[in-house]
Amino acid sequence: MKEIPYLSPKTHQTTFEIDLKALVANLNYYKSTLKPETKIIVMVKAFAYGLGLSKISEVLANQNIDYLAVAYTDEAVELRKAGYEGKLMVFNPELECFDNIIQYNIEPEIYNLSLLKGFLEHIKNNAAYQLIKPFKVHIKIDTGMHRLGFMPYELEEAATLIVESKALKIETVFSHLAAADDPTEDEFTQQQVEAFEKGFEKFSSYFDYPILKHISNSAAIERFPDLQMDLVRLGIGLYGYSPQPEIAQKLKNVCSLKSRIAEIKLLNPGDTVGYGRKGVVTKPSKIALVFLGYADGLPRSLSNKGELYLNGKMAKIIGNVCMDITMLDVTDIDCKVGDAVEVFSENFSLEKFSEMIGTIPYEVLTDISSRVRRVYKN
Ligand SMILES: *Cc1c(COP(=O)(O)O)cnc(C)c1O
Repeated sequence: MKEIPYLSPKTHQTTFEIDLKALVANLNYYKSTLKPETKIIVMVKAFAYGLGLSKISEVLANQNIDYLAVAYTDEAVELRKAGYEGKLMVFNPELECFDNIIQYNIEPEIYNLSLLKGFLEHIKNNAAYQLIKPFKVHIKIDTGMHRLGFMPYELEEAATLIVESKALKIETVFSHLAAADDPTEDEFTQQQVEAFEKGFEKFSSYFDYPILKHISNSAAIERFPDLQMDLVRLGIGLYGYSPQPEIAQKLKNVCSLKSRIAEIKLLNPGDTVGYGRKGVVTKPSKIALVFLGYADGLPRSLSNKGELYLNGKMAKIIGNVCMDITMLDVTDIDCKVGDAVEVFSENFSLEKFSEMIGTIPYEVLTDISSRVRRVYKN
C-alpha cells in the first residue's frame, strides 16, 4: 500500500510506537473466544483509533478477517486508494457520498428513512445504477442507544420501500449496545437484545434470502459469548484495552506514546517555569524539557499536576503544558538527557493515563496528533 503523505518522516523526538505483533496477538485472542464460524468486523474508524489507517489495515488484510469498518466514506475511499480490496463497511454515510460508495464498492450502513429514501431516489435517477443494482447495504436498528438506527416502528416502512425498489441487497442487520461493559446495566443490555431480535424477525421476514445479524462490540465479545450471532465488531480490544481486568490481563500492550529528555536545567528557589509563571520552584530543582505538548495530544489540563513515567518513577509536570514542550520536575529522579519519558506504555498503562486526565482510552488514542510519528514494531 502507498504511504500516506502526512505519515512521512517526522523529526521530533516524540513517537507513538505501535506493536503490530501484539495487535495480531490480541486479534487471535478474541478469535479464540469465538466460534470458528463467527465472522469478524474490525473497526478502523478514526485513523484506526489513532494508530494509522493504512498500516493497521494492511496488517489486518493478512489476518483472515471478514470486514473492515470505518465511520465516514472518506476513510473508506482512502483505504481503497491505499489498495485495500477486502469488504468494507461505512457506518456513517452521508447522502452526498453515495456515488463514491458505489464507485469504490463500499457497503453503507443505512440508519434512517431519509437516508434510505435518498439513496433509493439516487439509484432510480441514474441509468447506470439501474443496470448494476442491487447494492449491498447493512441495516441498523436503534434498540436503545438512540444514536443512529431505524426505530422499531420504522422497520416496516423501510422493509417495504426496499422490497419494492429491488435496488438493495441486505447483507446484515445490526444494532449497537449502549452499556455492554457495565454489569449494573445488564438488564438494559438484555432489553436491547430482545428489541433487536424482535426487530430483526420483523424486518427479515420481508426478504426471501438469509440475512446475517450482529450486535457485539469488544465489551460484548468479552462478556456475552452468547451474543456473538453471525458477526462481531471488534474495536478497542484489538488495540490493547479492556475495562475487564481479567481480559486486560490477557491482552498485549499495543500502544506506547514516548519522548525523550531534551535538556536538563538547574533552578533556584523563586524561579518560575513556563507561561504565566505557573510553575513555581521552592527548592533547588532539576527541570527536564520534553518535546511533547498539547499539540501532540498531551492535554493542557495536566499542567502542574500530571505525571509522566521516567526511569521507574513518575515525574511531575511543572508549569503549564505548552503547545510543543512540557517541563518535568526531576529533582528526585536519577536521569539524563536522552532518557525515555513515557506518557503511556507497558510501564504506565493507557488506562491509568486515561484516568489521570479524566477520560477514556478511546479519546486518548484518537487525540494523538498527526504530527506524532507512528513507529510500527514488527
Ligand atoms: C466503534 C464501534 C464499535 C466498536 O466499539 P469498541 O468499543 O471499540 O469495541 C462497534 N460498533 C459500532 C457501531 C461502532 O461505532
